[in-house]
Amino acid sequence: MTGMKTLKPVDVAVAGGGWSGLLIAKELATRTSLEVLVLERGPARGLKEYAEGMDEVDYVLRNKMMQNPAELTITHRHTPADRAAPVRQYGSFKPGTGTGGSGEHWGGISDRYLEDFFILETHLKEKYGAAKLPAGLAVQDWGIRYADLEECYWRAEQLLGVSGKAGNLRGEKIPGGNIFEAPRQHEYPTPPLVPTYSMSFFHKGATELGYHPYPLPASNLSRTYTNPDGISRAGCVYCGYCPSFGCMIGAKAQPSNTLLPVLRRRRNFALRNNCCVRRVVHRSGKATGVMYMDENGEETFQPADIVILTAWTPQNTRLLMLSGIGQQYDPATGKGTLGRNLTHQVTSGARSAVVFKEPLNSFVTSGAVGYGVADFDGDERIDSSTGLLRGGAFSRGTAPEYLPISTFGRIPAGETPRNWGAEWKKTSIRMWDRVASMAGYRGDHFAWRQNFMDLDPTYTDRWGDPLLRMTLDWTDYEYRQMEFGSRIAGEINAAAARAAGGKLVESGERQTHKPQFAHAPGRRPRYNASAYSTTHIQGGAIMGTAPERSVVNTWLQHWNMPNLFVVGSSAFPQNSSANPTLTILAVALRAADGIIGRYLKKPESLI
Ligand SMILES: Cc1cc2nc3c(=O)[nH]c(=O)nc-3n(C[C@H](O)[C@H](O)[C@H](O)COP(=O)(O)OP(=O)(O)OC[C@H]3O[C@@H](n4cnc5c(N)ncnc54)[C@H](O)[C@@H]3O)c2cc1C
Repeated sequence: MTGMKTLKPVDVAVAGGGWSGLLIAKELATRTSLEVLVLERGPARGLKEYAEGMDEVDYVLRNKMMQNPAELTITHRHTPADRAAPVRQYGSFKPGTGTGGSGEHWGGISDRYLEDFFILETHLKEKYGAAKLPAGLAVQDWGIRYADLEECYWRAEQLLGVSGKAGNLRGEKIPGGNIFEAPRQHEYPTPPLVPTYSMSFFHKGATELGYHPYPLPASNLSRTYTNPDGISRAGCVYCGYCPSFGCMIGAKAQPSNTLLPVLRRRRNFALRNNCCVRRVVHRSGKATGVMYMDENGEETFQPADIVILTAWTPQNTRLLMLSGIGQQYDPATGKGTLGRNLTHQVTSGARSAVVFKEPLNSFVTSGAVGYGVADFDGDERIDSSTGLLRGGAFSRGTAPEYLPISTFGRIPAGETPRNWGAEWKKTSIRMWDRVASMAGYRGDHFAWRQNFMDLDPTYTDRWGDPLLRMTLDWTDYEYRQMEFGSRIAGEINAAAARAAGGKLVESGERQTHKPQFAHAPGRRPRYNASAYSTTHIQGGAIMGTAPERSVVNTWLQHWNMPNLFVVGSSAFPQNSSANPTLTILAVALRAADGIIGRYLKKPESLI
């Protein structure tokens, strides 16, 4: 590129150094002799920084590991008729930045998606009939089936060392595991984490209601484990500093402690931190490299034979838009594919909480230790009177509940006359470790025609590039999901209170981690871009079997540019009740297999 600093070419340039980017890099750098370069916009970090000490103020309240919205954000509006506004504070999701991305400070819940989720459009049409499906529904099949991914799921589980108990081993239902999960070929690499005290009440309550609680699959190791790459990590010590933090002992699987140690041994791998990719550079339908701002703020051209975007959903989508690759989706006409199927996992919580007789010691915990209930997951056991096509999952996690500063003052309604003063302080101290909501809900988020992403016409980043604009709102359907979730979570709370001999109360007013959707009954919530929910945003560059309906093929190869791959949850046509990261890893492994086993044999053609 004329006038710009141009570097020596590499074989593969990867934009983004999180789970997706470093996993693809590891596969390519260890299984081939290709020279692989990862460009990561954020700083280097790892065990050394985490071991220096965890501080709730820095890491949780000041979001030390997250993308700073003052530097880069998105804009949001509910409908195309609205004017979008920039999200200026940490909002409904929190993208990570720096080596490892959000994979450093994630929680570690690592469940697989259900079998029918990969063929959702076909499945719903067969089950309910196309005419009975809600208008505007835009769910799609992925173009691959669960069976195509099962082996990659297993490879991902071994990479992470997932701790859990199988509930469906080659079709055999095993009590104590998740009997509603898709069939797996192997038991988990490590046994489940040790349940915490408060979890036992969820278990008792859910069992009393006739449900089938199981230990959540966790990437926080239950014991020392060595993965197939020879990387050994210690078992979790339940220190509690988990989501929002990097692990101080490496028990939680993170890109920095599973992938980087392997990559660092390779001479054909390089990671450049503080380098933000701004464009995929291309000519005549072929990517020729990437343009990025280097650590000194200088525009730099990095030529490459293969370009892989792994910058997570919003930035993957935005980079394609900024680079002018693909056709922007237009909800009015339904034309174009880039930016469509924007989804955000649906969550809600009970409107009640349990006051326990004794302290729970809830500071003894781990990011993914918990029980789940999948009795309503998928569509086999959902009652049609709910108005829902699919149910969702419930779980009791403990991690966000213990943080002393952010949860101080969590008092059930009516306990003290006001929320200040000596009485309030005393009650807060007495209540802090005794009040808990036992269950939260996670539901699928269907894709709808009206929810999408494009470039904002008004707001730009520091370099003058348009911000990504999200047009996203809840429909009546999600409202019914949240109501359903609140109701069942409330029933589990009540059963847990009975089991514990505790008191069931209205949930407190001050809960930092209260789901944004614990809304008033009878009032439909709007999507709230400023209240945190989950960092599970998907779509924008979805996968499929035809370029008319997808941006990338099932190997995550761009339909219009065979040497460009777009990897991550941007490829997911809709959002699951299960957390996404294990599936992100499985799909990335499949993409790596496609590049190595197919693309390299016939470079520059579609595979
Ligand atoms: C608090 C928290 C808890 C979570 N808990 C769970 C959980 O329990 N289970 C689960 O399944 N998921 C969980 N997640 C989600 C999980 O972290 C993500 O699904 C996962 O990290 C996605 O991996 P990724 O590599 O695709 O994207 P990311 O982790 O977001 O990595 C993308 C990387 O790209 C970099 N990047 C972005 N733009 C550019 C650019 N232009 N140039 C260069 N680099 C760029 C970013 O800095 C980042 O490092 C959690 C997330 C958070 C924040």
